[in-house]
Order: sequence, then structure tokens, then C-alpha cells
Amino acid sequence: MPTFSEVFRVSGARMESLAEMREPVRLLEDIFAAAERNRGLDVEDAASLIAGAREPGRRAEIRTAAQRVRENVAPHTVEFVIPVYLTSFCENECLYCGYRQSNPLAERVRLSLDEFSRELDLILSWGHRQIELVLSEDPEFGPEVLARYVELTRRKLDGLGGGVVGLCSPVYERQDYVALRAAGLEWVVEWQETYHQPHFDRWHVTGSPKRDFEYRLDLWDRVIPAGITKIALGALLGLYDWRYDVLATIEHGNHLRRAYGLEPHAIGIPRLKPARGVLASQKPSRFTVSDDDYRLILSLYHLAFPRSRLFFNTRENYEMNISNVAAGDLFTVDCDTFPGGYLRNDTPGQFSTHGFPTRREVAGVLAARGLKSLYLEAETALPASEPQSTVVQPDTLKWREEHAKIRAALQDWQAILAGLVLHPGENLADRQAALAALRMTMHFFKTYAMEHCRKEENAFFRAFAANSHSSAKLQAFRNSHERLGIDLDKFERQMASYQLSGDPSVLLTLGERTIRELNEHLVAEEEFVEGQSAVVARAACPDPSGSRP
Ligand code: SF4
Repeated sequence: MPTFSEVFRVSGARMESLAEMREPVRLLEDIFAAAERNRGLDVEDAASLIAGAREPGRRAEIRTAAQRVRENVAPHTVEFVIPVYLTSFCENECLYCGYRQSNPLAERVRLSLDEFSRELDLILSWGHRQIELVLSEDPEFGPEVLARYVELTRRKLDGLGGGVVGLCSPVYERQDYVALRAAGLEWVVEWQETYHQPHFDRWHVTGSPKRDFEYRLDLWDRVIPAGITKIALGALLGLYDWRYDVLATIEHGNHLRRAYGLEPHAIGIPRLKPARGVLASQKPSRFTVSDDDYRLILSLYHLAFPRSRLFFNTRENYEMNISNVAAGDLFTVDCDTFPGGYLRNDTPGQFSTHGFPTRREVAGVLAARGLKSLYLEAETALPASEPQSTVVQPDTLKWREEHAKIRAALQDWQAILAGLVLHPGENLADRQAALAALRMTMHFFKTYAMEHCRKEENAFFRAFAANSHSSAKLQAFRNSHERLGIDLDKFERQMASYQLSGDPSVLLTLGERTIRELNEHLVAEEEFVEGQSAVVARAACPDPSGSRP
């Protein structure tokens, strides 16, 4: 039996022209009838639907047909699933991801088994019984280590009457999946990201282990023979033309049907979203998927995989998800993308997520539509021995020393820019000297200063996030750190232009602005902490007059 990479080497070549089709080659009504009869779509019919949907009036027809096909086979249930991140160390450089190796804004944490156990207890006490373990490509967190976390999850779920252990991780060898299955793993979630190899190569920088496109394509040809038949596949929408990636996903699903007689348990529908320190995600690109196209994609997947569950997650806002979720889908309500994030609360993670109503409210909304929630049990109390979180005040002395060091570096940066005004760079030696000094300055900001920002931000959130006034301020500081990361990236790119052209004007404008904003930011933070300290002092001594009743 050929693996999918062997199949796709041939069929993938057609995908581009199918994605570009302007007119359907069959009547849409015939395609709907075939989908109903065959319980699926071949890529040619899917391409005809996409072509037909170029006429906006036909999208409603596709949606109605998808609902009809789906209703005939889907169970009247929605499965709840909660992701639990185990590590944020990553040796990959996926340009769309907040955990890419070179992102200085990413906080790196690897949960010990004890820490994970505590977080799992919290999640289980909320009633969750379908746990998706998520990890990045951390060289110290291979499948043997992971098996211990799977086994612990399995044991705790069994102790509560059962549940499901899922996994979203780097891709492994077949024997690794055999071992993970023996430890209690039941299903595997993996996105191809994009099926278009030239763009896959562009998004996954040289040196990333993940860059092996065909090894990833053949993942299911290792997982399924290892005995794990519950799988979720898909593409990250927004990395390339969605038409191509949707068709390729359908082709991949059809390969699994042909090769293994198996329907995917779930289909991923993630759209690219902003992430901290990720320039690529900050503004829309030509591949950004509109809400209207997104809804069309859901219908196409419902027609192509009527028995599979679409995987709704908190990358989308609640209104979008609740208006689209249907019988037989998967739904995430609680989502923290940072290891230990459910215990710590409010730590920026892999990508930005939306806040949702409580899991009980969402279950209530689904119940009102006649949909039973699976894998969400009644809430229970946490074990009494669970350590209570304590609020630790930021170390203001150390923090002020760090601000002083950053201010000194800002002055150095300012002096180098002033030198560029005097000697704009016609002379090659001057230019090279200025660039060498700027590189050292950038290195300082991208390492020391960013590390300071990250730690300070976390400490502030833990200590001061309780009241809404502080929360707004803290969010403003967080945004400012985010902007700094992006400005440093831009400044570095402008350094490269200056090296070629000798014209420093853009470099000067960007540098001056960043320096000014950073100085203002340092002042604002210092004033904030002084204000908060005064609040703490007043709380400790509520009656300054000293009078007593
Ligand atoms: S997408 Fe995954 S593998 Fe890539 S950088 Fe992010 S965490 Fe690492």
C-alpha cells in the first residue's frame, strides 16, 4: 500500500489547477446527491463546489446541503476537549508560531510530572474528561518521557470512571506510537500546516526538524499501523491558498479511507492568528481566510467528512464557534496555551485565544439545541492537599537595576544614531563600524531587555491583575512589550537595507521612535509600581491618623 507522500507526489500536482478552477465541471445538485450517497466527496467534486462558491449566492445552497448530509449520520453530541501544554521549549522555527526557537518573548517552561499532575487535578475537578496533551519539539521531552505523562493521565481518568487521552506533538516513529498507545494514548491530532511544499518550506526555516515535509505527510501511515485509529488531520488555514489546502486535506482523508478503511475522527479548522513576537501574524496577508470563506470551508468539510467531527477551538471567538458548531463536532471552551497556564492564569502562550463563557453555560446552550455534551462531568472539589497559590510581589530593587541598565543601552543606541546623522554612511568603514555597534545593541535588547520584559510582565500579572484598572494597564504594558519585539525585528531588517544602500533615513526614524517609546514605557511602569506599592501600604495601614475606636 503506498504511503500518502507517494500518493501525493502524483495527485498533489493536480491540486493547484483544481484550486484555480473558475467554473464547476458538474452540477452542484449532482455533487450534493453523490455526497449524500457516498458519504464523502472526491477532490474533483470538492473543487467544483469551490468553483461554484465563487458566485456568492451559491454558498447558502452548499451550507444547506452540508447540513442535510451531516444530519443523516452525525450523533447528537458535541465532545468537549481541553488542551494541556507540557513544554514550550522548541527547536523549530515555524515563522507563524509564538514558540519558535528564536522568539525572545516566549517564556520557556517544561512541566515536571508533579507540576503536570497538579494542573491535571485542577482540570479534572472542572469536569473535563477528554485531555489533549500538547507539546512543542523539545529535545528533552521525547516520546519516552511523554509516555509517563500519558500514563499518569490515563490512570487519573480511569480513577474517575474513564475518559480520553489525546496528543498533539512532534511527529514520531511508528514504534513510538506503539509505546504511547500502550501507555494509554487513544487519539492523535496533527495538522500538516500547509500541504503546498514550497510554502511549507518557506514557513519552516532551514534547520527545523519539522521541515521534513514528506515525513510529516506520512505520519498517519505510521500512527494507524501502530494501532491508533482515532486521528485528527487538517491544515492551518492562512499559510497558503485555502482552496489548495482544503482540497489536499480532503485528498489526505480519502487516502485514509482507501488505505485503511478509516474515517478521520476529527478535521482541524484552525485559522492563523496573531502570536507574540510573530511578525508574520500581525497583519492580514493574501492568504488570510475571510469569515465568509471560513464558513464555506466548514460546509465543504462537513460534506467531505460527514462522520468526522470538526474541531472548534478558541482561536476563533465564541460567537463564531457557537454559531457554527453542529451535531457531531468537537468543542474547546477552556484553553490555555502555556505549560502550567491553568494554574498560573493569564500567561501569554503559543497564540492568542479568545475568552469564552463558562463550560457550564456553553453546555447549557448546546443542550437547548438538543446536543448532549460529552466528556464534561460535574465539577468536584480539588484535593484538600492542593497547594494554594500565593501572590509574590515583584522584586522591585532588581527590577530598577535592570531598568537602569536598559536606559544606559538606550543612550548608547541614541549615540550611534546621532553618529549616523553626522556620518550617514557614504564611507564604507564608517558604515561597518556603525553596524557592528548596532548589532551589539540589538543583541542586548533581544536577549537581556526582552527577557526582563517577559519576567517583569509575568510578575506584574501575578501580583496586580486583581482589579480592572490594573488589568487595563497591564495589558497596555504587554502590548508595549509586543510592539518592542516587532520594532526590533523591523530595525534589524532596516540595518540590512542600510548596509546595502548607505541611506540611514528609515533606520533613524524607526530607531528614534523605538527609543522614545521605550523610555516612556519605562517611566510608565515605574509610576505604576509606585502607585501599586502605595495601595499595598494603605491596605496594610488603613487608618493613617492612628485613631482607634
Ligand atoms: S508550531 Fe510547534 S513545532 Fe513549530 S515552533 Fe511552534 S511549537 Fe514549535
